[in-house]
Amino acid sequence: MTERSDLAELAKRRGFFFPANEAYGGTAGLYTYGPEGAALKRNIEAVWRDQFVRAAGHMEVESPTVVPEAVFEASGHLETFDDMIVECAECGATHRADHLVENAVPDVDDAEAFAPRRIADLVADHDMACPSCGASLAGRPVDEFNLMFGTNIGPGSSSPGYLRPETAQGIFVEFPRLKEYAHNQLPFGVAQIGRAYRNEIAPRRALVRVREFTQAELEHFVDPEFDEPPIAPVADVELPLYGAEAQRADAGGTETYTVREALDAGVVGSDWVAYYLAESLAFYERIGIDMERFRYRQHLPGELSHYAADTWDAETELGGDWIEVTGFAYRSDYDLRKHGEYAEAEYTVFRQYDEPKTVERATVDPDMSYLGPTFGDAAADVGEALESLAARDRSAFDGDAVTVAVGEDSYTLPVEKTGFAVEERTESGEHVTPHVVEPSFGVGRLVYSVLVHRHGTDEVDGEERTSLALPAEVAPTTVAVFPLMTKDGLDDRAGEVAAALRAAGLAVSYDDTGNIGRRYRRQDEVGTPYCVTVDYDTLEDDTVTVRERDSTDQTRVAIDDLPGAIDRLVGGATLAEL
Ligand code: AMP
Repeated sequence: MTERSDLAELAKRRGFFFPANEAYGGTAGLYTYGPEGAALKRNIEAVWRDQFVRAAGHMEVESPTVVPEAVFEASGHLETFDDMIVECAECGATHRADHLVENAVPDVDDAEAFAPRRIADLVADHDMACPSCGASLAGRPVDEFNLMFGTNIGPGSSSPGYLRPETAQGIFVEFPRLKEYAHNQLPFGVAQIGRAYRNEIAPRRALVRVREFTQAELEHFVDPEFDEPPIAPVADVELPLYGAEAQRADAGGTETYTVREALDAGVVGSDWVAYYLAESLAFYERIGIDMERFRYRQHLPGELSHYAADTWDAETELGGDWIEVTGFAYRSDYDLRKHGEYAEAEYTVFRQYDEPKTVERATVDPDMSYLGPTFGDAAADVGEALESLAARDRSAFDGDAVTVAVGEDSYTLPVEKTGFAVEERTESGEHVTPHVVEPSFGVGRLVYSVLVHRHGTDEVDGEERTSLALPAEVAPTTVAVFPLMTKDGLDDRAGEVAAALRAAGLAVSYDDTGNIGRRYRRQDEVGTPYCVTVDYDTLEDDTVTVRERDSTDQTRVAIDDLPGAIDRLVGGATLAEL
């Protein structure tokens, strides 16, 4: 099938997703999940929550989507959360300039890392045309465009805010409280599933690049010196890796490494990242990603954030293109350190020593009656500079005079005026800024990938059939119930069967419209793994027909045993084993 047209048609017709606000002309990059899509998305989130929160013993929070500006000043988003934009002089369409360059220049695959000036030169050198109208873009300026949606919190403009571009900051900001809930003990993980907003320059490919989407993020806070991931249980897990080196090589491709091999060979630089790459494989499989169309790709040096030591993306193959569905980053202490600098709270954890330690500390106690008259307005800054110099390099105080720098200026004073001293202190521990390991999943891209990977056609009874081979755990409906006819009490009986299945906690749909063949096709198209038909035999012997989507095989099951039988099927039993 062609992913874009067939899937978009199915998605709209069957209620998976469709462009939002079409009655008002539509809005690019905004989608509504219909009943089937919302259920599929919810089920994928439930699997994520089951694995990354419940089974892993982590916490889950829900923070606001509207966030004051100060947070993004600290996080760096205000300054750097930009994409490069070029506007066509002819038709006014705007485009991601780095993407145009990547598409047009064979050797360039990380144009995001280039300066706007260089991108503008490449656009001109390759005489690139506007993809919308064909006019030349040569000579057009390339600007930085911040992707955050701005707003004002409350009336007036005194309190600017932004819709969050990622859920992670809501976790980082609240770290001082969250660490209390974790009893001040590292490591601990905090997860969040929620909406994120990015004013993308060029939304595209349905759910792949949108302006409002759901993220499922885990921030795992670890002690950089003492905490290690449990590698032994995952050491033999095989990872499909497309490393930076393979990407640079002409004929490089995905290679399979066990976690142990990848770490030993230095292909994956962080053992925490390797651990999460291994742990996540089971998740992708569980939700129905085709693992033959899946890989982990390492970020090239130009793509890496300045704080990230090693970053990998999980990618799925869609119609010949590879799409990032998850980012795995070792973010070091960057986020907490920045909030520690900007906010009025402690973004550290107290690490207790096994035994108290006696340590030497160099301190100063400057004589302000000397510094004041001597240095005037700079006196306080000189005092602070002396303090940090003493902590950094006590040998600077060895002579008779000491010199400190304040901004561009330097100041020299006699050491005896600094109150310099070395003290012995007994300390029971120290404050450390935790490091963060972050797997960040895009839920919409996962939904879309699962739909593309599971959508297929085969032949049943000489007719082409379209079906969605979703795993039962994520299928919007687990079992559909049909009466063969809407007469002779069959419909009442089918209603009772559906009610009993619902009471057993299953997601059930009921359909009595059209002929049975049509009803099967409809359920196949939305991925329902099992259908139950109530027929005339049911009235005689209290059994129903259970039909399996993928094989289309059928068997008869006693109504009393039906909820248990469906449970066993969902758990992996075959029809023959019932
Ligand atoms: P990032 O913070 O850019 O690494 O994004 C984390 C994850 O969010 C990505 O792996 C994507 O799955 C998802 N994501 C990012 N931007 C978008 C978007 N515009 N539309 C849909 N999903 C997105």
